[in-house]
Amino acid sequence: MNRADTDIIRGVLSKEFKLSSLDDAEVVIINSCGVVEYTEKKIIRRIIELKNLGKKVVLAGCLPRIARKKVEDIVDGLVSPDNVHKICEVVKAALNGEKKVLLQRNYVDKAGLYNIKCRLNNSAIAIVSISEGCVGNCSFCITKIARGRLRSFSAEKIAEEVKDVVDQGFKEIQLTSQDTAAYGIDKQTTLAELLEKICEIDGEFRIRVGMMNPQHAIRILDDLINAFSNKKVYKFIHVPVQSGDNKVLKDMKRNHSVEDFVEVVSAFRKNFNDVLVSTDIIVGFPTESDEAFWKSYELIKNLKPDIVNITRFSPREGTLAYKLKDLPGWIKKERSRKLTNLMREIGIENNKKFLGRKFNVLITKRGKGNTFLSRMDSYRAVVLSDGKIGEFRKALIEDFRFNYLIGKVLGQS
Ligand code: SF4
Repeated sequence: MNRADTDIIRGVLSKEFKLSSLDDAEVVIINSCGVVEYTEKKIIRRIIELKNLGKKVVLAGCLPRIARKKVEDIVDGLVSPDNVHKICEVVKAALNGEKKVLLQRNYVDKAGLYNIKCRLNNSAIAIVSISEGCVGNCSFCITKIARGRLRSFSAEKIAEEVKDVVDQGFKEIQLTSQDTAAYGIDKQTTLAELLEKICEIDGEFRIRVGMMNPQHAIRILDDLINAFSNKKVYKFIHVPVQSGDNKVLKDMKRNHSVEDFVEVVSAFRKNFNDVLVSTDIIVGFPTESDEAFWKSYELIKNLKPDIVNITRFSPREGTLAYKLKDLPGWIKKERSRKLTNLMREIGIENNKKFLGRKFNVLITKRGKGNTFLSRMDSYRAVVLSDGKIGEFRKALIEDFRFNYLIGKVLGQS
């Protein structure tokens, strides 16, 4: 979402300003994230670095709302995510030595806003936001404060934006929001209907569906499975569970159970052979006992998701969980280490079964060194030694690591 907002900021600014390199720029816009304290500190350090270089700094993104007191005096302007379309006003004021602050809540349908997609390294990937905000109130989450309540963008405008980027030659469309499965709750429509609409667009491309919370994915599960069965939709689901213990989930105010999560994953696995399953776990939530941690560990061990994004709990001022007594850092570190080792073992075990098999892949961008990154129809990452970005090819899986496969291009898919 942050990157999709950056595409909009780039688009809006390009109408009135020359976009330039850091060296030539008079004003630098930082489109910030504030999800954990480490990130907040990193961005504040960057602001100071840029100020020391004599740059004017306009801070956009989530930090202006999350940590206003900490940043207001060290920047030349503040603009919140739902005011990105007005960023030129803030930049002009900064150039005139005035500090403009745009933080009032604003409903803006970002799907219709002019944007310039990032073409870094000739990437074939375009990010399209489908909504902003959410209907959750998770006790650990600071994002809610920055992004507010759910606003789903117009399905027509989203489809227009997807058609536009497909016409521009992008081949992988990443649909993003804080909770894609909540899409349309405020508009009497659903993510499944939106996917069907996007799949009607002509062209050979793939859709990656971003993060879905279990309670909303389960609400539309059958329709979702139907929509995902379209060839254009990657067989990939990212469903954060956060904990394997229902009491901790209650304390987190997650509004779903472990069983809800398992039901969603099982339904996708039943319908799509090689579906790639990604989830998130927070370790060290203040009320997470040893026993509760081992429940998270056992859940991952038994369900064997392919990707587990592990975060150590970070108390964020302004959230309910901030008031709870934080666990010692060494406990979080130890639990994170255990889960990371398990995740690597599962990754090896899951990827082993692809060895020697042939798959259609889409080459999406440059990889490290002289390699290319491609994606199977299950969105599994296949690193190739040659290829052309944007092409669909046939590949033979020759090797693997815990988090990606290594393939050889055989020919056209
Ligand atoms: S669903 Fe929960 S974790 Fe996700 S953005 Fe909303 S409040 Fe935060």
